[in-house]
Amino acid sequence: MDPYEALDRIVYLLDRRLDEGRRVRAYANARDIVAELDADELLARHRDRTLTELTGIGPATSAVIAEALDGKTPKKLVELEATNPVDVGEGAELRAALKGDCHLHSNWSDGGAPIEKMAEAARALGHEYMVLTDHSPRLTIAHGLDPERLRRQLDVIEELNGRWEDFRILTGIEVDILTDGSLDQDEDLLDRLDVVVASVHSKLSMDAKEMTQRMVMAVASPHVDILGHCTGQKVPGHQRQIGKSDFAGRVGSSFDAEVVFAACARFDTAVEINCRPERQDPPDHLLALALEWGCQIAIDTDAHAPGQLEWQPFGCDKAARHGVTPEQIVNAWDADTLVEWAGSHASG
Ligand SMILES: [Zn+2]
Ligand SMILES: [Zn+2]
Repeated sequence: MDPYEALDRIVYLLDRRLDEGRRVRAYANARDIVAELDADELLARHRDRTLTELTGIGPATSAVIAEALDGKTPKKLVELEATNPVDVGEGAELRAALKGDCHLHSNWSDGGAPIEKMAEAARALGHEYMVLTDHSPRLTIAHGLDPERLRRQLDVIEELNGRWEDFRILTGIEVDILTDGSLDQDEDLLDRLDVVVASVHSKLSMDAKEMTQRMVMAVASPHVDILGHCTGQKVPGHQRQIGKSDFAGRVGSSFDAEVVFAACARFDTAVEINCRPERQDPPDHLLALALEWGCQIAIDTDAHAPGQLEWQPFGCDKAARHGVTPEQIVNAWDADTLVEWAGSHASG
């Protein structure tokens, strides 16, 4: 077994179970060091037991490298492969119907992997497309893309898309809904993108009436196709996966859900089921309301790493419990249908 492949797969599996960031970074760092290292030097260091003398290689990561070089499957890898937290239940049929993922991030904003690595992972899951939705400029903490960087990203995507016959990267953004309901990106750029996800990330605790106006403004925008994680809640109960024993969660924002979902239905903006284990947004009562209003649904992972692209079953199980059918899910459509639908908003 190749040490690089072993470490890379461990990173994937740690991300899949939403392990602690610093642990993921330790393995990713070791993987990158191995990639740079000459194969002979790696073997010599293994023989002389001096792997840990390399900055960034510790006891755990050196054990993986050593086992791989000895021709064994590293114990850490065996253990991680054996625990899959994303078994699909009642949502199996919906999961099988999904053709893509409309909300995910690369290392251009706050994701952990390059665009092509996210694409390869999405393709390996059987997706026909993914919409790349990195953050918008004012989310500086997440390295949001200013217009200049977003334009450059569009060129990169165009080039990458020459690689696959059976897979496409659609252009997109997770645009921040600013406090006044306006969108955090230039109009002409929003117009150019295939799919626009709009989300609230700041001032979640604002007055419910103001929050309702803020969200309706965004939902009604001809640029916006999908309303991302509508409440912004973070649920407790993922201590093991998150690795923080004191994770108490975060209460979501308050808004008049009847008005917001009525607007989603009226302006044909899909409501996202965000599959992230710590988000699980919208909560059940709000999803029921969105469906009562006849809203379209998007089942998205909001993945920030390749392994997290596997999280769709969490949202599919929830959708199935609410009786959602594939026809209601925008990412169960093929890429052309999705892009045409999204484009029909922009033209009025
Ligand atoms: Zn977000
Ligand atoms: Zn996101």
